[in-house]
Amino acid sequence: MSGKVFIETFGCQMNTADSEQILGRLGQAGWTAVDTPEAADLVVFNTCSVRDHAEGKIRSRLGVLREQKRHQPSLRIAIAGCMAQREQGELLKKWPHVDVVVGTDQFARLPELIERLDVTGRIAATDFGDWEDDHGVNAAREPGVNAYVPVMRGCNYNCTYCVVPFTRGREKSRQPAAIEDEVRRLVGQGFKQITLLGQTVDAYGKTLGDGSNLARLLRRLHGIDGLLRLRFVTSHPKDISDELLDTIAELPKVAKHLHVPAQSGCDRILRLMGRRYGRDEYLRFVERARSRIPGVELLSDFIVGFPSESDAEFEQTVQLMQQVRFGGAYVFTYSMRPGTPSVRLPDDVPEAVKKARCNRLLSLQLDHQVEQFQALHGHTVEVLVEGESKTDPDMLHGRTIGNRNVVFPKRDGVVGTLQQVTIERSTPLTLFGR
Ligand code: SAM
Ligand code: SF4
Repeated sequence: MSGKVFIETFGCQMNTADSEQILGRLGQAGWTAVDTPEAADLVVFNTCSVRDHAEGKIRSRLGVLREQKRHQPSLRIAIAGCMAQREQGELLKKWPHVDVVVGTDQFARLPELIERLDVTGRIAATDFGDWEDDHGVNAAREPGVNAYVPVMRGCNYNCTYCVVPFTRGREKSRQPAAIEDEVRRLVGQGFKQITLLGQTVDAYGKTLGDGSNLARLLRRLHGIDGLLRLRFVTSHPKDISDELLDTIAELPKVAKHLHVPAQSGCDRILRLMGRRYGRDEYLRFVERARSRIPGVELLSDFIVGFPSESDAEFEQTVQLMQQVRFGGAYVFTYSMRPGTPSVRLPDDVPEAVKKARCNRLLSLQLDHQVEQFQALHGHTVEVLVEGESKTDPDMLHGRTIGNRNVVFPKRDGVVGTLQQVTIERSTPLTLFGR
């Protein structure tokens, strides 16, 4: 069977990268991508389970598809990714119009599973462990400046609130040679900026047991001609070695930007979260990073309203933010996830309090960004030009080596090159220059 496929991706960059692989493999089997579910013979949802909100969005999309399938009984529907892995065959019971459920290690089999539906009937394939590394050869990527390359899958931490260890399994790193092949090929195709992906990317190599680590991988990739920038996300504070910090500082193409979630500024909450570091250890990491990489930008995630978090404990997170002054922060309200260790703790912080704490952190972060951006007015920064600005077709946008978004007037022939931009003004989220 083949025809037209519509894929919708929810969640993180890892899912975006997986969707490129899913589309690539379906393409090989003769499927062509379309832009709307209405035009499709097959709809694939590549799903996220990190918060209930993400799953709620997917449930509502599935409701809409039920209507479509009523009018178009030949429509095939597949659920891939984290929600598929979490709920497995249960999804088929809950949603009788879904045909295939395919887990995070099994998506390579999607074309075959669809092909054999007439024989097997509705099916869930969610085994772990035999993920096929095809070196990204088949991934269907949009041409452009940016390409994402997963270098590891899974996670060996067990943060008590988090579904990732359940939905993506144990940590497994790809071979450095396979990653290098993929990056060389991508640069050959014209991509300029490669982002290496992993849930705890700074732990890259540990499972290979041959001395591989992220610092060595960065060195190996740095020499590739035509590659302009190398980034990586996300890091865990426990895995950032001095060797890695010094390598980032030394290699000019490596982004001076670390996404290292703190999650909370309170020791008791960090302990309940199972994060394996305390506030002081996080602050020592910040000091190490700033002393070894001058000008490094730090980005954090925070979870507010974790079970039993008091006002005073939340204030410790506010103080951490004030002390560190992050370059950016994602703030989430705690979402109880079935099956995670934290379900044994009552979800006792009222939603309104969670929301208020979330808004407080976001507004403090914006204040810090406004200050940091204003300090850049009149300065010239080097920007890798990524393409047209999302809000104004007469403008281009790009990012600094510290991952700041910069918007400036359009000129021909500069997309994919490094340009010097003088910053003239800013909003809380964007720098504007010429
Ligand atoms: N592996 C990365 C790490 O450890 O930083 C990211 C994991 S997760 C996909 C991204 C962010 O979602 C986490 O850093 C955390 O702040 C947030 N998150 C994870 N589980 C959550 C939950 N149950 N409720 C609210 N936020 C959550
Ligand atoms: Fe989840 Fe913690 Fe692993 Fe990040 S480090 S993916 S938050 S378990």
